[in-house]
Amino acid sequence: QAKRTEGVEMQFYSPKLDRQTAARKRLESEVRTAVEQSAFTPVYQPKVDLATGRIVGAEALARWQLDSGRIVSPGVFIPVAESCGLIGDIGEQITRKACLGAAKWADMGYNDISIAVNVSPRQFENDDLGTMLIDAMTTAGLLPRLLQLEITESVAVTDPERLRDVIGPLKSMGVRLAIDDFGTGHSNLAMLGRLPFDVFKIDRAFISSLHNDKQAPAIVEMILGMAETLGMETVAEGVETDDQLQFLKRRGCDQYQGFLFSPPVSLEKFIEMVRRNRQPAAA
Ligand code: C2E
Ligand code: MG
Ligand code: MG
Ligand code: MG
Repeated sequence: QAKRTEGVEMQFYSPKLDRQTAARKRLESEVRTAVEQSAFTPVYQPKVDLATGRIVGAEALARWQLDSGRIVSPGVFIPVAESCGLIGDIGEQITRKACLGAAKWADMGYNDISIAVNVSPRQFENDDLGTMLIDAMTTAGLLPRLLQLEITESVAVTDPERLRDVIGPLKSMGVRLAIDDFGTGHSNLAMLGRLPFDVFKIDRAFISSLHNDKQAPAIVEMILGMAETLGMETVAEGVETDDQLQFLKRRGCDQYQGFLFSPPVSLEKFIEMVRRNRQPAAA
């Protein structure tokens, strides 16, 4: 009883809460300024073919570069940007820069290495999303088949019609669609089968528990089996150990991403890594 009263008082009269609100407001206005300064840039994490060890793609991950040189992670600014309506602007900056990056390596002869960008559910509320994506590819001179969109299950679940409308024209150009963090959402399996997905990205949580949880291996196998039945490609996220890699290889997962191979790196470092990973594909 006493505890509950305390809680209510905390809620209505708390210097701590005031401080949190003030900090939140400050962060919001800093994000807004950073958007104006185009301070959001992608880093690139390689996606590697499990059978051949070749780099076959990269995921663009947003970073905020402060004037001080410090780098801020998306875990800090994405939730704020989503709640104050700036996620579309950040997504656009990342997408345009990432398309330019991918067009650059394609021009160097690595024209089979794809680029994946994360699209937040909130971005689907904007009618101009499709136009922006097409313009980003066209401006960069990037082949649509090299662009992949990573979306979480929530968009598919809450508004499959909208997803189909926005994605349809892009899909017919050759853009590919991946479900990110697969296994953590609330997908209706029948619905997933009817949506135009090409790739399952198995959530890091399952990969990291492969060797210390009884259920994780079974869940991963089930996802891989389902992907095979549906004719979809599979990517394992967050691979950190060789044991995890070997498990995925034995079970026929197509690609992996994770610190074991490389953390996300700058465009220059990524291209250098590709150069070392293989000879240029025939132009
Ligand atoms: P995500 O799309 O699932 O991206 C994978 C995250 O896992 C990245 O974190 C990546 O750096 C991290 N990661 C990769 N390999 C490993 C590993 O082996 N071990 C561990 N522990 N972590 C690994 P990051 O860059 O902090 O991004 C976090 C999330 O923020 C992303 O999750 C994505 O949901 C979101 N995000 C990042 N960039 C963008 C963006 O441009 N737009 C939107 N809407 N969301 C973004
Ligand atoms: Mg992703
Ligand atoms: Mg993911
Ligand atoms: Mg994830």
